[in-house]
Amino acid sequence: MQIEKDKVALIDYTVKTTEGQLVDTSEGNEPLAFLCGFNNIIPGLESALMGKQAGDQVSVEVQPEDAYGQRRDEMVKEVPLTAFQGVEKIEAGMQFQAESPNGPQLIMVTQVDGDMVTVDGNHPLAGIALSFDVTVKEVRAASAEELAHGHIHGVGGHHH
Ligand code: ZN
Repeated sequence: MQIEKDKVALIDYTVKTTEGQLVDTSEGNEPLAFLCGFNNIIPGLESALMGKQAGDQVSVEVQPEDAYGQRRDEMVKEVPLTAFQGVEKIEAGMQFQAESPNGPQLIMVTQVDGDMVTVDGNHPLAGIALSFDVTVKEVRAASAEELAHGHIHGVGGHHH
């Protein structure tokens, strides 16, 4: 069976920056499972995996526009310290979930200067080209329920 829309694929993967810095790997964990055609994984990786089957190995370099997008300067904002009510101490490197028009968004504190806090809402991997090494472990048909939910259930997926 080949990876195509409405199929479930389980993959082992290692992803590095194109400079060779390790970003993430499934080594030592369950394979990553995704439902093809539902934006479960970044588009550049999904398109490279189309048509592959169990046992296939794929190495692909994905540019930022097909991964986590380009960095956007307007995602960096200065907010007053008073916006962080209920947090005892604000430090660079802290992450918060913020509400945005596109749903929950992770923001990172990058600088604290007196009463002003600089936050960055860019994805940590925005603007970075990624190099994937993938081994396809399994390809199976999705259940009707998985297709209705837009994600997979069971191993490597949602348990609910
Ligand atoms: Zn579900």
